[in-house]
Formats: sequence, C-alpha cells, structure tokens
Amino acid sequence: MGPNGFKFQVSSFKFPRYLPRMQFSDLIQNNKILRAISDCGFEKPTPIQAEAIPAIGTGRDIIGCARTGTGKTAAFALPLIQRLLNTWTAAREIRARSLILSPTRELAIQLQKNIRQFAAHTELTTLLVHGGTEYENQILTLREGVDILIATPGRMLDLIERKALKLDQVEVFVVDEADRMLDMGFAPDIRKIAPMLPQTRQALFFSATMPKDALSLATGILHKPMHISSDPVSAAAENITKQLYYVEKNNKNVLLSWLLQRLEYERVLIFCRTRRGADRLAASMKKQDLPIDVLHGEKEQHHRQELLEAFTSGETPILIATDLAARGIDIENISHIINFDLPNETETFVHRIGRTARAGASGIAISFCDPTEKGYLRDILAHLNEDFDLIEDHPFHSEQVRNYSGNVKSKHTPDKQKHISKIREQTTWRLTPGQQSKLHAKSGTPKKNARRNPRKKQG
Ligand code: AMP
Repeated sequence: MGPNGFKFQVSSFKFPRYLPRMQFSDLIQNNKILRAISDCGFEKPTPIQAEAIPAIGTGRDIIGCARTGTGKTAAFALPLIQRLLNTWTAAREIRARSLILSPTRELAIQLQKNIRQFAAHTELTTLLVHGGTEYENQILTLREGVDILIATPGRMLDLIERKALKLDQVEVFVVDEADRMLDMGFAPDIRKIAPMLPQTRQALFFSATMPKDALSLATGILHKPMHISSDPVSAAAENITKQLYYVEKNNKNVLLSWLLQRLEYERVLIFCRTRRGADRLAASMKKQDLPIDVLHGEKEQHHRQELLEAFTSGETPILIATDLAARGIDIENISHIINFDLPNETETFVHRIGRTARAGASGIAISFCDPTEKGYLRDILAHLNEDFDLIEDHPFHSEQVRNYSGNVKSKHTPDKQKHISKIREQTTWRLTPGQQSKLHAKSGTPKKNARRNPRKKQG
C-alpha cells in the first residue's frame, strides 16, 4: 500500500500505460471518493488518470502533459482529495491546505464545480477566488480556513497583500494549464507565489503543451519531478469527424449562415481568431435572427457566466468565441465545432476540436480555409498526420483556394524575413571589434562597408 493509501506503489518512472480493465478501485481506496466517482458516472479511469493517480500518490512532484478533455481534472483532484483526507488536520485561520491555480476564471469555476462533485461525500471545504467578484465573502470564508483553494493568480496575490491569506499550510500546490499561464503573462506571479509555500509541499504542474519556457518555470519550482503525459496530440481527436471547406475569405460569412441553416446541431461552438472578428461575425449572424451569442475576454465576468449558462441550457445554442474565452469550457453535447478562422498552432486546433466529443462521445469539427490559411492547414494536417473530409458540395466551394499552393500573407502571418534580419542584426551587434576584423580577414578582401580608420592612410 502506498503512503497515502494507494494500492499502487510507484518507485520508478515506468508506469503501466492505460490498462483496459483497470478500475477506479485499483487506484483509489477511499470509499467516499469512489462513491462520488460513481455518482459522476465514470466507469473506467482515462489513460491520464490511470497514470497520474498512482504517480501523485507517491507524494512526488509531477509534471503532467495533458489537455482539457482527457479527464485531467480528476487525474489530479482525486489523489489530492484522498491525500487531504488521509492527512486530515483542520485548516488554520486564513490558510488553505491545498491550492490550485488556474489561468482563467472560466476554468477556475469549472475546476471548483468538478472538485465539489468529487468531494461531495466528504467534509472538505472548497473556495473559489477570482477577479471581478466581491472580496468580502472570500475574506470571511478564508478566516475559517479552507481545504481546497481554487484561484486565479492576480486575485490570490491581492488577498495575500491584504493579509487575508497565507500559504504556509499548503500541502499540495497545483498549477493547471501552465502554458496558458505563460501566454497570459502569469509567470512572474507564479514565481512570486512559490517561495510562500512550505518546502515540504507536493507540487503538480499540468500543461496542454510543454514549451521550453513552461518547462523551465516548472523545473524552477518542482523538486525532482516525475514526468507523465496523456496520449500524444495526434491521437487527440479519434472520434471527431473533421470536415474541410475551401472558401474565399469574403464568402466565409455566407457559408456560415448557409451551414447553420442546414446543420442538425445540438450546440455549435464557433472559433474566431480575434475579439473584433468575433464581434463582427456575431453582429452579421444576429441580423439573420440566428440564436447566437459571442464570448470573449472583454466581456464582464458575470456576463460571460450568463452567456455560458444560456449556451449550456440550450437557450442560445450557437456561441462564437475566441480561444482564450473558450479555454476550460466543459459543456456536454457540443455537436459541432466550427473553425471560422484556422488557428496558427496545431495545439490550439486540437484544443478547439476537443470541445466536442467530450469523454468518449463523437462530434463534428468543421474548418473553413481561405488562401491566407493554407500554410496553417498544411501544418495542422502534417502534425495530425491525417486528411480531413473535403466538402465540395456547397455553393461557396473554391477550387482556386483548393489548388492554391502559395503563401498569401495575412496580418497574422509572422514576417519571417524581418525576423531573420533582426536576428542577423543582433548577431552582428554582439560581435566584438576583434571578432569583426577576424571575419573580414577571413574573406580576404575588406568588406565593402567595413569600417576604416579615416585617419589611417590608405595603402
Ligand atoms: P477534463 O479533462 O478534466 O476537462 O474532463 C473532461 C470531461 O471528461 C469532463 O466532462 C469529465 O467529467 C469527464 N471525465 C473525466 N474522467 C472521466 C472518466 N473516467 N470517465 C468518463 N468521463 C470522464
């Protein structure tokens, strides 16, 4: 039996990958948690759960590579709850026994909802703190101490500054969606928070992707972390039908309304690259009386929540969103995802289409592709190593876009040439005068623009 009551004792980096017949009762011992898992209707652990739960049970720090949609929340929340129950001691005044940091309010709300379900048969308390809400109740609840604190970094630091929160009793520290934290500029906040935690805390670091800066942030905080990962990106979307529409940029709006009038959908989530683009599209669709709303980061928190509720209940079954706003959305029965704009990163594409086909269901992901997006499409197809179903049978199909192989620049295409010359400039700038003269000496003849000493007589 493991230190925290886990049946699996993990002593090396090798884990059994997903075992088809593995049960939650092989991983979790506490009956109250097992009952909650069964209330949620989870029958079998997902691969990341099968891997993460015993790993976290060893008490070691973990770096986990897992996207939303893989069952990642339960993967860290179940062992966290089990640990808090096993080491039970009351949380002291203005203290939390565990801390989960989330980059966005939406994800934080979702996390609390899930964790409350998993801890439903226990006495453990949870508190959610994020910006855009009143301080008063959060401060009052913290006075009693909480078992599980879910927070966005900014509001949490505010509470610490107001002396309403101390982190010296935290046993488990979780950073969720670390890559998104970095994108949103939260790295300095996380570095500030880490030294406030006790040395003995267990730290769990989850990220959908693991770019270098996320890894270096993690290694600065974690002690000898164990690495775990869910299935690779290419396996991300097995039960999602991917359809491709080649269309000229200025026909995308009409193609969308044509489709929305014909699709048999339950809920449709439409992705745009920018807030302005999302607003413009929503305005044009609303003119056609389509039941549509738009969700992006400029909306007030309470309004964002209302929009999500209207989408969840089916009152407004079509939602246009930007990537940031859609992060953490966990709504069942999204039958269609539409990439109105293709993203310039494969990871974002996988993340978007993963909003449908949640937990084993199936779904349809439709992608529009205009000439400026052919480069993105090529990268996505190469990365996923598959072809999408090409849909030509519609009035806006463009054979020209299909055959187009050049690179039309959009304002989002990074200007490679500029970037290269910038790097060259920096390289030249870094050369010391001695190195520069060596360079010129190598070429034999002096360079055309090589600096000469004007006072020195020319031979
Ligand atoms: P997450 O990756 O945590 O956002 O989870 C994605 C969805 O999968 C959520 O709706 C969870 O409720 C669901 N889920 C998580 N674990 C399981 C499981 N073992 N079996 C079935 N559904 C699950």
